[in-house]
Amino acid sequence: MTYDRIHVPAWAAPASGAPLARTTIERRALGADDVLIAIEYAGICHSDIHTVRGDWGPQPFPVVPGHEIVGVVAEVGSAVTSHRVGDRVGVGCLVDSCRECVNCERGDEQFCLNGSVGTYAATDRDGTTTQGGYSTHVVVDAHFVMRVPEGIDPAAAAPLLCAGITTYSPLKRWGAGPGKRVAVVGLGGLGHMAVKIAHAMGADVTVLSQSLKKQEDALRLGADHYYATSDPATFDRLSGEFDLVINTVSASLDANAYLRLLAVDGAIVNVGAPPRPFSVAPMSLIYGRHTLAGSMIGGMAETQEMLDFCAEHGIGADIEVIAADAVNEAYERVLASDVRYRFVIDAATIG
Ligand code: NAP
Ligand code: ZN
Ligand code: ZN
Repeated sequence: MTYDRIHVPAWAAPASGAPLARTTIERRALGADDVLIAIEYAGICHSDIHTVRGDWGPQPFPVVPGHEIVGVVAEVGSAVTSHRVGDRVGVGCLVDSCRECVNCERGDEQFCLNGSVGTYAATDRDGTTTQGGYSTHVVVDAHFVMRVPEGIDPAAAAPLLCAGITTYSPLKRWGAGPGKRVAVVGLGGLGHMAVKIAHAMGADVTVLSQSLKKQEDALRLGADHYYATSDPATFDRLSGEFDLVINTVSASLDANAYLRLLAVDGAIVNVGAPPRPFSVAPMSLIYGRHTLAGSMIGGMAETQEMLDFCAEHGIGADIEVIAADAVNEAYERVLASDVRYRFVIDAATIG
């Protein structure tokens, strides 16, 4: 059975910086390759906030954010063989790409040479603007729909679709594992996933947080060590200590101070995406043969691999489930670094 376009409730930012409010949006008719998902949970990523607050430039308002989506398949198109009605599935930051360019072929759909399509505030292949997961239903091409393994609580699985893959991908690429000293800067949504995943990979994990407030939590999440960056002695004490630093901070940091923490051949991978650039002294890179790198989410195969890894290791996000009408308050708490450690909207409260 297929259907025509449907109208579904959602929460949208009507304009840059304006509070989110309930609205109705249209989802496209189910195509042959599409999956209709009845959304159960949608995580709140700091990128949602950057987007609707205008940190990343003008946006096609109204914007329905949300790219950490978990739900149940309600309908599949005639050509879909990978998912069945009733399956628990997830959608992350991407809903389309060309599937033909060299980057797509390699499994790096996020770097599609013909332009990957973001889950919200992007131009879809039919020319409409994509709308994200703070909604009850979404229609997505099956290639961009992941299997959520049994054994991960569906609400705790939602943040894996962005925070999970964004940290898993660089941890794996830069060899987090036994004998590697990994520092995670910022213990928010991404940071707490980085701690759990790096610990599960066998690395020695240090959290660098602004204050000592999250110390107990960090150790419970799997960190071996914890330091407050507000203490200037931290930077002297930890000079040259790390093989890999994953920077998840949503604001600009003093890159030179963190480069000093690297051992010879160490790398900082920046996944935080603050609007302002940071400056780097060449000597911070030259001395110690340091690498300053970045990483953006992950491809579809790697996202599935991450979900399977998390299921195998019993990893979900630490979440606070909220009703949709608490979203604006939740944004304020994220901005105040007061999230423990991901807000997830219960989609049953959206309708
Ligand atoms: P989040 O939950 O708000 O966590 C960010 C953490 O950074 C905060 O909890 C806080 O940790 C620390 N922090 C915040 N402001 C700070 C400041 N002024 N100085 C020092 N530390 C500060 O955000 P998130 O959802 O994890 O996202 C983090 C960043 O990653 C955002 O910029 C987001 O857009 C970006 N992102 C990138 C990708 C990618 O593909 N590269 C994907 C998703 C998100 P402490 O309290 O521990 O200090
Ligand atoms: Zn995100
Ligand atoms: Zn492509």
